[in-house]
Amino acid sequence: MGPAMNAGFIGLGAMGQHMARNLHRAGLLAGAWNRTSTKAEALAAETGCRAFASPAELASACDFIVTCVSADDDLLAVVGALLGGLRRDAIVIDCSTVGANTARQAAALVSGAGGSFLDCPVSGGVEGARNATLAIMCGGDEPAFGRAQPVLAALGKVCVLMGPSGAGQATKATNQILCAGAIEAAAEAMAFAQAEGLPLEKVIEILGKGAGSSWYFVNRAPFMVRGEYPAGFRVRHHDKDLRICREMAAKHGARLAVVETTIRDYERLLATGHGEEDISTVFRLKAPLFSRKG
Ligand code: NAP
Repeated sequence: MGPAMNAGFIGLGAMGQHMARNLHRAGLLAGAWNRTSTKAEALAAETGCRAFASPAELASACDFIVTCVSADDDLLAVVGALLGGLRRDAIVIDCSTVGANTARQAAALVSGAGGSFLDCPVSGGVEGARNATLAIMCGGDEPAFGRAQPVLAALGKVCVLMGPSGAGQATKATNQILCAGAIEAAAEAMAFAQAEGLPLEKVIEILGKGAGSSWYFVNRAPFMVRGEYPAGFRVRHHDKDLRICREMAAKHGARLAVVETTIRDYERLLATGHGEEDISTVFRLKAPLFSRKG
């Protein structure tokens, strides 16, 4: 047996609560901290792990710190708060989706305090988090990536080191462009099928096996049929991600139609109170397109 490992989890949201449980199942979870403390207390009651009082207290007890918070400023706040307790040679593994520059900033803070930082954004949705089947795209150095393997293996089914700090987040931004195209296409296709009077469950059954299928079509078109959009991947988060993509593309002088169209749709959804729903709620905007007879 190798040396005992202990991991602490910060950010028990839609994704993090499942990822923390998977660390517990792998025997790696020492405890958790969450901004809303009741969530950490509930996890502690369920698993027997500790509910830490602060990020620094968690850091002082853990060799591995996994973070999964909302956005760039949240990550920098949490990293800033844990530095005081950071153990020498600790590894901070961040699974949030943030900009590549923010990841590099966080990496500099952590390495300045004697630890290592890996940007490890994930893809696979809440289902992937629950089933430990996430795809994990990593940025950082080879030795830290090697040492983090047991933690990463408990969270996902595939994990690839893409390059130095920030490369994981650049890969995730690439993925978010794919997701935008997939959800827009799924929503427009389903609205079209509905307008054609097709049986929608059968449409999903057959086209889910076809060349135009996608994870989003198979897993989220059923939400469109039911007209219920539980998170899932919140509009508010994907909107944040697409603004990161827009900014990164603009640095190369590019403007992407898929990104711009999706951001425009999300602006309407956010303005009408649907920001906390799964992104398949974009269907709300597509079905009405077919009621204007030409
Ligand atoms: P969520 O359900 O909104 O949870 C966010 C978590 O971050 C909560 O635990 C929240 O604490 C915590 N948090 C937010 N701001 C904080 C701050 N300033 N300080 C401390 N804690 C803070 O989000 P999620 O869906 O789990 O997503 C988390 C990250 O994973 C996001 O970056 C998202 O883009 C990414 N992601 C999500 C999915 C998905 O399908 N949901 C898939 C891949 C990647 P409270 O409990 O106190 O609010």
